[in-house]
Amino acid sequence: MIVVMQTGSTQADIDAVLERLKEYNLQGHLTIGAERTVVAVVGATIPPTLREEMEYFSGVKETVRITQPYKLVSREVRPDDTIVEVRGVKVGGGSTVVIAGPCSVESEEQIMESARAVREAGASMLRGGAFKPRSSPYTFRGLGELGLRLLAQARDETGLPIVTEVMTPTDVDLVARYADVLQIGARNMQNYQLLEEVGRTGMPVLLKRGLSATIEEWLLSAEYVIAQGNPNVILCERGIRTFETATRNTMDLNAVALAKRRTHLPVIADPSHGTGKWYLVGPLALASIAAGADGVILEVHPDPDRAKSDGGQSLNPENFAALMPKIAAVAAAVRG
Ligand code: PEP
Ligand code: MN
Repeated sequence: MIVVMQTGSTQADIDAVLERLKEYNLQGHLTIGAERTVVAVVGATIPPTLREEMEYFSGVKETVRITQPYKLVSREVRPDDTIVEVRGVKVGGGSTVVIAGPCSVESEEQIMESARAVREAGASMLRGGAFKPRSSPYTFRGLGELGLRLLAQARDETGLPIVTEVMTPTDVDLVARYADVLQIGARNMQNYQLLEEVGRTGMPVLLKRGLSATIEEWLLSAEYVIAQGNPNVILCERGIRTFETATRNTMDLNAVALAKRRTHLPVIADPSHGTGKWYLVGPLALASIAAGADGVILEVHPDPDRAKSDGGQSLNPENFAALMPKIAAVAAAVRG
């Protein structure tokens, strides 16, 4: 349920609402939007009489039941776009962000070369995994803390904020010391302890959609983060499992457009994992922006043929640089 405050309601009115919710053991999340101030009420059981009771409170305009199972991520609670700010880079709210870099951090030379190349071409953030979730335990699983240190070094030189994955609740403190955005991988989308732990950091979180997760499940996972008081969630569509085997995954662009409608959170797309083929990354990156994505995350490697992970879906720096103006042109066309 949401409690919509009247324009001109006072802080004391809002405090009185929050206070009463506390007496019911409910959480009240305040959203001050351009048009209206609302208190979103979340909790296991909302007493049936609460809606009516709240409508008599001073400064309350009306109460509205939230129809979706997710609450705080819903546009019903916050009609305006959320803008997640990462060291001055804005994600959401009409800009187009390009996050680029290798699948994994492999060496100092490799990450520095990648960072310089993507920076040169105009990327606004650097990606790179130090802790890698791999389908086979016998493949390269990342450099761990050394990888994080190398990412920090790349940020120091290029100024690009870094996006890197955290795989377990116990690693959150460590990864948070280096990262600017904590990536939750597709395989961990429903690791609820991990979601709560990254929620508690208050840091920007990039939440990949699970391989077989419905849009509703994805948004409910975002709700776990926001329920911890952390509104800085960026959703990422990265392709889902379907009957199709010609591509690694199937980019679900319906999900991009629908998520933009259902939630106020920024939504970006990952056509590298979504297609698994470097030559499909460009077309699907453009299609994602056309479908309304707030940006893309792309795997770029200085020498894809020798990459330790995901080389087949990584762009080389030349192809990445050639794609950048096309992304800008599509963004300009769809944003009008
Ligand atoms: C990645 O970004 O390299 C990655 C492992 O992504 P996903 O979790 O979407 O598979
Ligand atoms: Mn990858």
